Amino acid sequence: MKDIYLDNNATTAVHAEVVDAMLPFFTEQFGNPSSMHRFGDQVGRSIRQARRQVQSILGAEHDSEIVFTSCGSESDSTAILSALTAYPDRKEIITTAVEHPAVLSLCDYLEKQGYTIHRLSVDSKGRLDRGEYESVLSDRVAIVSVMWANNETGTIFPVKKMAEMASAAGVLFHTDAVQAVGKIPIDLKETKIDMLSLSGHKLHAPKGVGVLYVRRGTRFRPLLRGGHQERGRRAGTENAASIVGLGLACRIAERRIDEENTRVKSLRDRLEAGILAVVPSAFVMGDTQMRLPNTSNIAFEFIEGEAILLLLNAAGIAASSGSACTSGSLEPSHVMRAMSIPYTAAHGTIRFSLSCDNTQEEIDRVIRAVPPIVAQLRSMSPYWSGDGPAQVDESFTPVYA
Ligand code: PLP
Repeated sequence: MKDIYLDNNATTAVHAEVVDAMLPFFTEQFGNPSSMHRFGDQVGRSIRQARRQVQSILGAEHDSEIVFTSCGSESDSTAILSALTAYPDRKEIITTAVEHPAVLSLCDYLEKQGYTIHRLSVDSKGRLDRGEYESVLSDRVAIVSVMWANNETGTIFPVKKMAEMASAAGVLFHTDAVQAVGKIPIDLKETKIDMLSLSGHKLHAPKGVGVLYVRRGTRFRPLLRGGHQERGRRAGTENAASIVGLGLACRIAERRIDEENTRVKSLRDRLEAGILAVVPSAFVMGDTQMRLPNTSNIAFEFIEGEAILLLLNAAGIAASSGSACTSGSLEPSHVMRAMSIPYTAAHGTIRFSLSCDNTQEEIDRVIRAVPPIVAQLRSMSPYWSGDGPAQVDESFTPVYA
């Protein structure tokens, strides 16, 4: 039986059409787009087309606002470091406690360099507090960087409103939209967002290519200096094959956005309902209303996420957990900890992230596979007895603060 891939927030399979579109750029279309000859011209034209395709999915006003980078992480770093260089007198940054490490690790580093970092907290549903944001927004802030949608829970943040508030306060607003692009409609013309990051490999383009959208008129300082590529905003000979692949993947994603929000969403809902109907002490993490259509993060109380993943993997099902065992720690992720949910739930979270490639047969297989796995693990858990939670000393179930 074919393995089932439900880890699309980690990375996606490159569409076959995207691979086909990229191949000529490894063979006959090898020219350097900066060259003043036919070889360069051909490649330059294809890159311009890709730029328009990215412009279109973002609803950007001008194609010159699209800067190709090497990944989402580079785009995030470029946006934040650009703001600090462009506004050298401003020493504060606003972000959230649940950003991707591409933003949070940079902020941790900058804090050590003397910057003040305001990490907005979230409630148990992963939602931000408007009052807290207002209280730290001032002309001392160089940039606000808030993700459009969270990679672990799929919770969508009100970035349009937050960008308006930043704009009114005269502060730049950047959003890490790596998980949002291709999953929910985006129209930047309608917003006050100054900069936005996206990453190719989250929307069926290859790894190692990304975009930083920079609204026209935004004060900008490049991270990579050297060549004049990307209008001097990002030096380095263009990764033409990947850029062309990203452009086509954006075009396909734009066409399929309705399918993502109907068929994929209903598969996600079927998966969730099917599991929750039969597994006791399980609940959905994050904001179930304001949520990406493809993401379901379920906490299975009183068992370990890693153990669930291993058994799912043995059953041919790929998902991911909210604990970071791969980083050498068994602690729940920073996102789960920020949501202050009980220890016994934070440890047992599994993220299922779907894509247009998934089918109902696959989802039904997962619905059948999960309950016996959970039951098997609970039969070994000291927190579980018979068919319900065991009576344990309260001090064994800390809440992450
Ligand atoms: N931001 C978010 C929200 C992500 O989910 C990821 C990847 O998981 C990144 C940034 C980093 O993107 P990349 O892998 O292209 O550097």
